[in-house]
Amino acid sequence: MPVSKEFSKRLKALPEYLFVEIDRAKKEVQASGVDVIDLGIVDPDRPTPDKIIEAMERGTKDPANHQYPTNYGMIEFRQKTAAWYLKRFGVELDPEAEVLPVLGSKEGIGHIPLAFVNPGDVVLVPDPGYPVYRAGTITAGGEPYPMGLVEENAFLPLLGEIPLEMAERARLMFINYPNNPTAAVASEEFFGEVVLFAEENDVIVCHDAAYSEMTYDGYVAPSFLSVEGAKEVGIEFNSLSKTYNMTGWRIGFAVGNAQILAGLAKVKSNVDSGMFQALQVAGIAALTEDLSDFRKTQVATYQRRRDLLCDGLTTIGWRIEKPKGGLCVWARLPGNVSSSSAAIDLLCKAAVVVAPGVGFGKYGQGYVRFSLACPEEKIKQAVKRIEPVYSEWTKGVS
Ligand SMILES: *Cc1c(COP(=O)(O)O)cnc(C)c1O
Repeated sequence: MPVSKEFSKRLKALPEYLFVEIDRAKKEVQASGVDVIDLGIVDPDRPTPDKIIEAMERGTKDPANHQYPTNYGMIEFRQKTAAWYLKRFGVELDPEAEVLPVLGSKEGIGHIPLAFVNPGDVVLVPDPGYPVYRAGTITAGGEPYPMGLVEENAFLPLLGEIPLEMAERARLMFINYPNNPTAAVASEEFFGEVVLFAEENDVIVCHDAAYSEMTYDGYVAPSFLSVEGAKEVGIEFNSLSKTYNMTGWRIGFAVGNAQILAGLAKVKSNVDSGMFQALQVAGIAALTEDLSDFRKTQVATYQRRRDLLCDGLTTIGWRIEKPKGGLCVWARLPGNVSSSSAAIDLLCKAAVVVAPGVGFGKYGQGYVRFSLACPEEKIKQAVKRIEPVYSEWTKGVS
């Protein structure tokens, strides 16, 4: 008898990760010899600063770093993270208890529901949203409840419209600003409302601040933890991935409430053994070296790309407001064009990969997401290719 290879119910309940499918479609078009421009995934296309790479090299040569790291991470890494939080956000953190390294924030986000969600509990997730909030919830046996992010409310969840029954059953809430995929930003005032909601409904808040440093036009993003009461109800995830072009390195951290972090640390200590210490040495360099020139150039680069894309699309009739943060542009489609058919049209007729909005949740219907992780020349070319497809849509031909 062959052994059954049937996936578990939990795994079957997970969709295939969005970008796996997009990549497959892209490869098919490429295989026919077409030069495809990829504005799909948000993955910085530029290298990590040398100072960080050199620190990693030093770290790998120290035998002390070759053994199992501790579950809570090196104290110096935690201290430097706390120091960075104080300097950047004015948020005080106890490095011993309020900082926890994670293997990329995706790992921490994916695992946190295992610490606090019982089967049948509700997790409030932004929709459209980063798919990991939903996937982590399902893996823990929880039930995601989508909080719709609509343009009319500046892509902030309407907390007052969450049904009472769902608010009562909710154990966790995920929020994410600067947001992916809508590129919206949030004020401290909004974070204050979230704290009130959490206190009233006994809900743990997890704020994903992966794009806190990717902001434009002089806008500076606040930390969720900078508002009063936040540290009593929640934690914040941050990451070096986007800030320092380090997506491949897998260095992130969770900060905030000690008891919530202890839950996450307990899950992690049972499934991983912490972060390679040489990576933590590199992380320390990222948080302490003077990389201000790199950061200025990096933000300016994305701001120029954003301007090129938004201005270019506006010129061909697709009016899009310039977002203040994030690494993408969230574009409303004309008329009744669905997000999947738009993504297919753009791939097949323009050889441009975009992410269909609906891949981020049902409220993403009618939108596509353009990534800014692409050189200017390609963005210009993409706009040219999109023009005839866009005019087909507006004529209602497609
Ligand atoms: C890119 C991204 C992250 C960062 O993931 P890492 O695992 O730290 O690389 C987290 N949240 C959102 C919304 C993202 O887009």
